[in-house]
This record gives sequence, structure tokens and C-alpha cells, in this order.
Amino acid sequence: MEFEDIRREIVDIGKKLVERRLTYGTCGNISCRAPDGRRMLITPSGIPYEMIKPEDILILNFHGEIEKGDLRPSVETPFHLAIYRRRGDVNAVIHIHSQYTLAVSAVSDFVPVFLDEIFSHIGGDLQVSRYALPGSAELAKNVIEALGDRNAALLSNHGAVCCGRNLKEAFEIAEIVEEICKIFILSSSLGEIKILPDEGRKYQREMFEMKKT
Ligand code: 13P
Ligand code: ZN
Repeated sequence: MEFEDIRREIVDIGKKLVERRLTYGTCGNISCRAPDGRRMLITPSGIPYEMIKPEDILILNFHGEIEKGDLRPSVETPFHLAIYRRRGDVNAVIHIHSQYTLAVSAVSDFVPVFLDEIFSHIGGDLQVSRYALPGSAELAKNVIEALGDRNAALLSNHGAVCCGRNLKEAFEIAEIVEEICKIFILSSSLGEIKILPDEGRKYQREMFEMKKT
């Protein structure tokens, strides 16, 4: 089977997302750029993670055409493709529907840099993309805009998109984004959030750039 290891890794990460409560049911999706750089592997649409088998993972070219697979690819194929086209540094994308990202994405326009790890892991504010229907070209456009050169963005009323150089890193970003949203809710309930001062932002941005190279 072509890219057997990657397919297995995608299946394992799907199960881990549910275990860690980063998504549930058939919500969310996972993709990875193929090692040839010109195609992507993506989860099928509407299948619970515990039922997805490695052979169910589809291979699509960057025009969105299915090269391998009998099932329907994730409805969010447009934003996964848009990210790979736009961001040469991203090789894995995970979309989650987790409690705290959903809660924040339903209320806020962005999560400011109020913790060191927001800059060092995300690369800046966690922006919330403008609302658009799931699976739409408009959502893909809004996601690209909200993501910029950062590693994650929230989708208005719809969870988060997390990116990495590989699947392991994208999963770690998903865990961090959920934690950041949880702390954002806790901090907001205590009072006014203190945004990181300029010197802290500058230092953390440098750390982020260094990690990228
Ligand atoms: P898929 O099952 O088609 O991947 O859709 C899940 C989802 O989260 C849509 O936004
Ligand atoms: Zn979704």
C-alpha cells in the first residue's frame, strides 16, 4: 500500500484526538503532505475515527482530484489543500472540534498573546477566521487569512486548524491550542487579560523563527 506508514500514523492520531478529547464523533479531519510534495493524504468524510482503517485514507493531488481511495474525502479538503499550496513549511494539518476551542471560537475574534507559549508555539495571536460554511471555498480563504504565517487559527463557531512540519508536531499544536483556549477562558473570568509586553513578544517571536529553521 502506498505511503502505508503515513496512513497508519493518520489513523493512530485520529484515535488519539478522540482519546484526549480534542475532537469527537466524526468531527474534525487530518491530512499530511505526501513525501513527493505534490499530493496529500486525508481522512475520509463522516467516518468515526475508531472505524477508519489505513486503506481508507485517500490520496489527492493538489487540484483536489482523488488519485487513490474509494471513500469520499473530508469535506474540508479545500482548506487543507489551500494551506499546502500557500505554506511550503507545513506538511500536516489537523482540524479539531474540542471543547475549549469551540467555546472561544463562538465568542472571540482573537486570542491575544497573553502567555509566552502562544508566541513560541503559535507564532503570534490566535486569530479567529471569519465565519463561512463548512467545506466552502470561502472558509478556505478565511482560514488562510486567519492563519498567516502562524501554526494555528480558530474557525468562527467551529473549532481550530493546527499545522506542523509533520503529524506529530501538528498534534502537539492541537494540544497546546486547546490548553491556551482553556487558560484564556479561566483568565478572562478573573479579570482583564494582560497582554505580553513588546520585549516579551519580540523575544518569543525570535524563538519561534529559530524553531522554524
Ligand atoms: P469530515 O467528516 O467530512 O472530515 O467533516 C468533519 C468536519 O469537521 C467538517 O468541518
Ligand atoms: Zn469541522
